[in-house]
Amino acid sequence: MNSRNDQLFEQSQKVIPGGVNSPVRAFRSVGGTPRFFSKGVGSRVWDADGKSYLDYVGSWGPLILGHADADVVRAVQETAALGLSFGAPTELELVMAEKLVSMLPSLEKLRLVSSGTEATMSAIRLARGYTGRSTLIKFEGCYHGHADSLLVKAGSGLLTFGQPSSAGVPADCSGHTLVLDYNDLSQVNRVFAEKGNEIACVIVEAVAGNMNLVKPKAGFLEALRENCTKHGAVLIFDEVMTGFRAGRGCVQGLYGITPDLTTLGKVIGGGLPVGAFGGRAEIMDQLAPLGPVYQAGTLSGNPVAVAAGLKTLDKISVPGFFEALTAKTKRLVDGFTRAATDAGVNACADSVGGMFGLYFRATPPTTYAEVMASDKDSFNRFFHLMLLEGIYLAPSAFEAGFVSAAHTDADIDETLAAAARCFEKTSA
Ligand SMILES: *Cc1c(COP(=O)(O)O)cnc(C)c1O
Repeated sequence: MNSRNDQLFEQSQKVIPGGVNSPVRAFRSVGGTPRFFSKGVGSRVWDADGKSYLDYVGSWGPLILGHADADVVRAVQETAALGLSFGAPTELELVMAEKLVSMLPSLEKLRLVSSGTEATMSAIRLARGYTGRSTLIKFEGCYHGHADSLLVKAGSGLLTFGQPSSAGVPADCSGHTLVLDYNDLSQVNRVFAEKGNEIACVIVEAVAGNMNLVKPKAGFLEALRENCTKHGAVLIFDEVMTGFRAGRGCVQGLYGITPDLTTLGKVIGGGLPVGAFGGRAEIMDQLAPLGPVYQAGTLSGNPVAVAAGLKTLDKISVPGFFEALTAKTKRLVDGFTRAATDAGVNACADSVGGMFGLYFRATPPTTYAEVMASDKDSFNRFFHLMLLEGIYLAPSAFEAGFVSAAHTDADIDETLAAAARCFEKTSA
């Protein structure tokens, strides 16, 4: 027990379940002691023992400008000095809403909330209230936060309702959720043909980022759009991770599909707690106080959090921002794939905008089953070797990675040199 990380983890486990405030932080998937971070600047973080790492987690996506961006920090400080919260409307919320509406054409109206979980939970309630229907379709491996009706795994058959995937979720809550296979078009068509008039909504990570990174097959998103339109169901794109991360117009812009509702989080808060859900005005106007669907929040639209989000959105709006981020991320993943091939390791990588997947299998996966069948043991070995080299990857084979604007070309070179050494040792 000599490292400060070990000490802090030991103590934390006495007062915080598992020592962490969110399970993946505990390193259970990869083993070992989670690093406790004390500082972050740009692309780097420092742990409690003073060791520094190049960070490819970026707080799981929000930090698209890197750690402690000077402009974002200043906006937060200036806004905080004027009052931390009012529980009443502020001009800043209006500016934020107008900014989001101007950036994402599918948003006619939106509400700000404080997390991605709140955004998806609220969007689903709204879709159910709007349609007067209860059935929800989600896809295995897509994560939409931890609301009861979403912690569901597939039932015994295609048309049977799901089972809770967590203790504490009553069967009544999971009993309105159908869980289908991501990228399986024919399943979607069959379920809509059978139950179309019962389906309130489909929620999907249009590019999936919570089962590593999985891109939609040609026609998959189109099939969701067509079926929802035909059967009067609400199509919800959960862009909490991909929103202003996959590209300037989010995934819906990249693929040219317009959802009825979109959920946002992560990047739009710039590292502070902000989420949003929005879309067609006709649907959004069902919310209280205009309509019968209840939704509220003491800290919703919090000025300090909104200030961080707005400054972040301003900075990613400069021309060329996403072109540069996308090219840098592409250089990283092409380098990973080349280094793995050179070392004779069965691994490859892929990216969308500023997010990437590193896969211990021959080709990028297209299904949840393929993701789950990847070589987790080799990933875990590689993860710990990279950690020793001072490269911080997500501590699980099933998470996406993130590059920020603060990552320099030299950072990418350093990472790829380390990866080459680590792939060699992984294969040894
Ligand atoms: C992170 C995430 C959420 C949950 O957001 P929180 O802010 O952690 O509640 C929901 N959906 C997707 C796609 C996410 O990546």
